[in-house]
Amino acid sequence: MRLVLLGPPGAGKGTQAARLAAELDVPAISTGDIFRANVTEGTELGRTAKQYMDEGEYVPDEVTNAMVRDRLRADDARDGFLLDGYPRTPAQVEELDLMLGEAGVDAVVQLTVDTEEVVARLAQRATEQQRSDDGEAVQRHRLEVYEEQTAPLVDVYDRRGLLRPVDGMGAVPAVTARILAALDRG
Ligand code: ADP
Repeated sequence: MRLVLLGPPGAGKGTQAARLAAELDVPAISTGDIFRANVTEGTELGRTAKQYMDEGEYVPDEVTNAMVRDRLRADDARDGFLLDGYPRTPAQVEELDLMLGEAGVDAVVQLTVDTEEVVARLAQRATEQQRSDDGEAVQRHRLEVYEEQTAPLVDVYDRRGLLRPVDGMGAVPAVTARILAALDRG
């Protein structure tokens, strides 16, 4: 199964991605996690990415696309994957289409949450994880960037008949169950 998880920052994509990956036996590929790992390791990719992440901006498409292309070539992604945080721009959608060819993705899960809940979750995460991109002004900016650049992807995938909107509010296992049901895997 080839899946994309879509939703605003703080919607719980990372949490659900890990649970779904285990359930569906596919690797969860999180562009945010890969960037953060590179920042920690001090690679050149990490140095580039950090400048953008710390400002709440997206890393340039060329950089992100090359990284995902490379990751999808790995053996473990051959029979399926779950993309968490990619694609995030129309240009990334086009690039993913090229990477996957005819096969394309099987479904795009859109996690919906209300904005107040998202802001509360991000504040909580800032306290727990000390992420350098979780300051309040940066968070607000990330939500704006999401609305501007990523929210339009909902329509793109809806027109293709691939969109599965799922209510992301409530307990973590309940949300996982809803997603699996939306994928007919419940
Ligand atoms: P969240 O789920 O809270 O939005 P992520 O961990 O997915 O956060 O991403 C953290 C940061 O990594 C983003 O704000 C952005 O700078 C960068 N990033 C992640 N995925 C992409 C992408 N597909 N395109 C561009 N930048 C990305």
